[in-house]
Amino acid sequence: MGLNDDSMGAGNPIIGLLGGGQLGRMLCEAANPLGIDIAILDEKNSPAKQAHNTNRHVAGSFKDPAKIRELAARSDYLSVEIEHVDTEVLEDIEKNGVEIELADGSLGTHKPPIHPSWKTIRLIQDKYLQKEHFATSEKEIPIAEQIAIESGESTLASLKDAADKFGFPFMLKARKGSYDGRGNFKVDSEDDFEPAIEALGKLPLYAEKWAPFVKELAIMVIRTEDDEGNLKRCVPYPAVETVHEDSVCTKVFMPPRNVLEDVCEKARELACSVVSTLWGRGVFAVELFVLGDGSLIVNEVAPRPHNSGHYTIEAVPYMSQYKAQLSAVLDLPLPEKLTPRVSSSIMLNILGGATSKSHHKLTRLARTTFGDDMDAYLHLYGKDSKPGRKIGHITLTGTSTIEDLEGRAQPFIELVDGIRQ
Ligand code: ATP
Ligand code: MG
Ligand code: MG
Repeated sequence: MGLNDDSMGAGNPIIGLLGGGQLGRMLCEAANPLGIDIAILDEKNSPAKQAHNTNRHVAGSFKDPAKIRELAARSDYLSVEIEHVDTEVLEDIEKNGVEIELADGSLGTHKPPIHPSWKTIRLIQDKYLQKEHFATSEKEIPIAEQIAIESGESTLASLKDAADKFGFPFMLKARKGSYDGRGNFKVDSEDDFEPAIEALGKLPLYAEKWAPFVKELAIMVIRTEDDEGNLKRCVPYPAVETVHEDSVCTKVFMPPRNVLEDVCEKARELACSVVSTLWGRGVFAVELFVLGDGSLIVNEVAPRPHNSGHYTIEAVPYMSQYKAQLSAVLDLPLPEKLTPRVSSSIMLNILGGATSKSHHKLTRLARTTFGDDMDAYLHLYGKDSKPGRKIGHITLTGTSTIEDLEGRAQPFIELVDGIRQ
């Protein structure tokens, strides 16, 4: 029985969501027609709050323990749209619950299930520990070799150790809090040691061997488990190719261009192995590198809907990554296979340009494109445009090959690339 039962009589479940950005917004867009209520903890008028009207939202930071407790008290389940949240309080809520006032006025303890588990979120927050976990799990997941970098005065010596071990270039990375490559520094030679320390030296760091990849793939996986924490199933979406420019994902191709079907299938199996080592229900993104010989290594995992899965809204419409997240959290039945309803799809991120109007030609084209061979779907996130900020995306779907769709998509691709000039 949900907290909502008395007030609405419909027994609609309430999912409390930490974070109200575009992922939360698209989660709300999937939840609205299903009658699922989403209570969002984030700033007033955040993108997700704009898309879902309820009196249950909480205004504040998803890093604030008191606000997280307030959200928990009014939710049947808790979930996240961002992994950079306070996991201590989530652990405490799982173990001890939060106090709520019952219908008769007395006080009771309320323990909303948390999916994915705080254990998964805490592990994933530290990219170094996350990958140690994968590599040392019984699944022996392949990762780029890595070593922890000492902080303070030992950093320089530690960087030299990394260079001795990996050679140049290698990647220096912040262990926590990074996104869109903002915590990464490519170290090409000893001359880069000082600028690297200047840029990242105050943060806990680790170094990774350079991965000479020929492609980047991402796989969304739905993970379900019972209320006792026993894994039920991992169901993968198709493999997609992600293209990063200046470390930011700009384009996603489904299916990947020039990648053998066999490699895509191995990537899906590997992604399921990775996700099976984690805890809780929900969708997970597994980012992978494909090396020249077709072998795969895992780059990182996101424990939530992901930019690389936006295409599922139109390409797998009966079970988009957002509907899957809702279904998994609520433990509703899920399909055994996720087969796209289109033969090809391209997702283009709209990043803010030099002026607030830089993307207008592109959005106009997206609003006016439709046809037998290519459809265009525009998603704007209700965010102010700032240079480099993700303010929306366009999904193109096609009825033929990915190469054919890429050809038809050229006017879009040129406008997208033009915004970044
Ligand atoms: P996200 O927004 O995906 O969370 P992030 O800040 O966590 O990004 P990473 O995924 O670690 O950053 O790296 C961003 C990009 O940098 C990767 O997609 C890849 O293009 C490149 N990269 C990362 N690690 C390596 C590596 N070891 N070798 C070569 N390139 C790498
Ligand atoms: Mg990351
Ligand atoms: Mg990444």
